[in-house]
Amino acid sequence: MFFDILTLFPEMFVGPFSESILKRARKKDLIDIRTINIRDFATDKHHKTDEPPYGGGAGMVMKAEPIFKAWQDTQNKREVKTKTILMSPQGEELNQKIVKDLSQEKGLTIICGRYEGVDERVRETIVDQELSIGDYVLTGGELPAMVLVDSISRLLTGVLGAEDSSKKDSFYNGLLEHPHYTRPREFKGLKVPSVLVSGNHQLIERWRKKESLKRTFLRRKDLLENKELSNLEQELLKEIKLELKGEVNE
Ligand code: SAM
Repeated sequence: MFFDILTLFPEMFVGPFSESILKRARKKDLIDIRTINIRDFATDKHHKTDEPPYGGGAGMVMKAEPIFKAWQDTQNKREVKTKTILMSPQGEELNQKIVKDLSQEKGLTIICGRYEGVDERVRETIVDQELSIGDYVLTGGELPAMVLVDSISRLLTGVLGAEDSSKKDSFYNGLLEHPHYTRPREFKGLKVPSVLVSGNHQLIERWRKKESLKRTFLRRKDLLENKELSNLEQELLKEIKLELKGEVNE
């Protein structure tokens, strides 16, 4: 899958995309990340990419034309038409379902805003989807774009070492993941649950499923409301509620 990222600060992407899993994925050509400097498409003498807002007020606004030209250039260079995403605190909040859907695309064009944001006509002419990474405001769309590329990339075949490990992660199946333990068996007086060292894989799976449900029940009841539970999950949830009776309000 490819990602074309339109930004005023391409250097910001060098570190995060040159380490660990994403570095390997790029080497294996599983993902192709291109950063395009919007400033290269500002044709005036001073390569201006921002101007004060019409109507007055504080801050600067990113001009429409350089973004549009940078976008047009990327569309011409790629053989397929991509979905264009604008990172914006006003967009739909990113979640695993959106990430999963976007991971089916051949490529994406991502626009990173700065300052007060981009001229509204960018949104009106070339943006297919606006995405936010949460109800807070950052200085620019670069960090959100990195979040988006990272979360999509790890779902692509071959990117993670173990093929199905992303399928066990939180949110993939609508639940939070169970807790993990590794060596040593005892740390600061706390022992690893005995079932995990029993060698009984059926019991381990049952324990993990139950812990996953318990975590979700205690931390994110909203996820359970939207999930269709299997018979086993319903049975485990009943057990959990009985065990927790008196400890938590349902
Ligand atoms: N004035 C804008 C507003 O109030 O909606 C905020 C602009 S913000 C300072 C500059 C840029 O950072 C935005 O255009 C967007 O690209 C990016 N940005 C900031 N917070 C974001 C968030 N939570 N999710 C996605 N992008 C964000």
